[in-house]
Amino acid sequence: MKIVFASGNKHKIEEFSAIIRKYIPEIEVVSMKDVGIFDDIVEDGDTFEANAMIKAKAVASYGYIGVGDDSGLSVDALGGAPGIYSARYAGDHGNDKKNNAKLLEDMKDEDNRSCAFVSTIACAFPNGSEYSDFVVRGECQGELLYEERGNGGFGYDPLFFVEKYGKTFGELLPEEKNEISHRAVATELFARKFCEMLGI
Ligand code: IMP
Repeated sequence: MKIVFASGNKHKIEEFSAIIRKYIPEIEVVSMKDVGIFDDIVEDGDTFEANAMIKAKAVASYGYIGVGDDSGLSVDALGGAPGIYSARYAGDHGNDKKNNAKLLEDMKDEDNRSCAFVSTIACAFPNGSEYSDFVVRGECQGELLYEERGNGGFGYDPLFFVEKYGKTFGELLPEEKNEISHRAVATELFARKFCEMLGI
């Protein structure tokens, strides 16, 4: 069974594919490019869930089972920012270096370093399908460091410290991150719901 992942972020698709295959080995996860969809999807929802569904539905409108992941970092001391604006916190979309620098600057005098990664994953079926669209949410708690550590992962990973490993996500092996991350939690929920709905 083929599902189309609605994102141009290769890290997110790699993580989702690796995790979902633990639960549904026969699933084939392809990118929008792989099926010839080059739309620039406008994410104008107010929540992670709304944006994940916008992406999934954009793909489903082409007749595929669409999967959208909308994710980000929510920092307590910043009232949940960068939140849904995580990818463009410093202005340019997807500039990880600039986003991390801005976050460190905004947090430089703050002692409360508590934060959480959030991943919402939506599934949308083509028009006329007997199945209902759905969205799930996973979170992972951590602490924001004062400087980057590690070169692995992407985005805010080098700043996100997890107690369980005594390391940042940027220092973990991909398989270690995929055991405990927000995306791991959301993908497991996604797989359960997907299998239940399709009876597989
Ligand atoms: P989206 O593509 O609009 O969902 O934006 C996701 C943004 O959130 C990314 O550009 C990263 O800045 C951040 N993000 C989401 N998931 C992760 C993760 O697993 N590690 C690090 N940063 C993440």
